Amino acid sequence: MTEPVRDTLTKLLQKVGIRAAQVGSDKPLLADGEFHFVSSWHFEVNVKDSIIRNVLNSETVVDEQALTEFERFNRAQLVKDVDIKSKFCQKLQTMPAREIFKLGNKVNRLSVRKAIGRCSCPKCNGTKRTSCPNCSGYGQILCPSCQGAEGGCSRCKRTGYVPCPTCRSEGSIPCQKCRGIGIILVERQVFLTAINNSSIFNQFTKIDDLSISARKTPSFTAVI
Ligand SMILES: [Zn+2]
Ligand SMILES: [Zn+2]
Ligand SMILES: [Zn+2]
Repeated sequence: MTEPVRDTLTKLLQKVGIRAAQVGSDKPLLADGEFHFVSSWHFEVNVKDSIIRNVLNSETVVDEQALTEFERFNRAQLVKDVDIKSKFCQKLQTMPAREIFKLGNKVNRLSVRKAIGRCSCPKCNGTKRTSCPNCSGYGQILCPSCQGAEGGCSRCKRTGYVPCPTCRSEGSIPCQKCRGIGIILVERQVFLTAINNSSIFNQFTKIDDLSISARKTPSFTAVI
């Protein structure tokens, strides 16, 4: 084999995980190669709240306690629900490897359960206000004219500080998340997230005579 051909071939083989040291060109070897595609899945229960501004008359709005109970109940149900998980995995077994790889890069939400409820704002804990981001809650900022230099200036009356214009010296502003109401309306979703870990590995078995090797069909395994 000529040098350029061997180098090119070695590089190509490295791309599929065969080290340069494993490539020889003087003594040809015959091997049976098997590529295994292994796709393993595990499931997590997740909860997500989305703030909503309006509800339809037909929709039921529950209180915070009921919302917490809804979450607790469905979390427990989904952890146990092997039926949903196995149906999902059975479907995967009929899909080609390429599709599974694509699917593996997405977050797969299964069996979403929803409820709408009012709850105390998690950002301000129902206090309706949050610390001012401009002055970090101090109510004052460094004087923009003298930058707080020693002795200050007339603008800051020699103190080096001026009242924070964002919160008007209060140190806090109305909470943005609940718009200063202290209570938010949320749609809470409890769902299963299917998380995929796919890989391909190869295995070569040295054979002496190609004609006697048993031809194997490519295998696919889904592990749950
Ligand atoms: Zn709030
Ligand atoms: Zn100043
Ligand atoms: Zn402020």
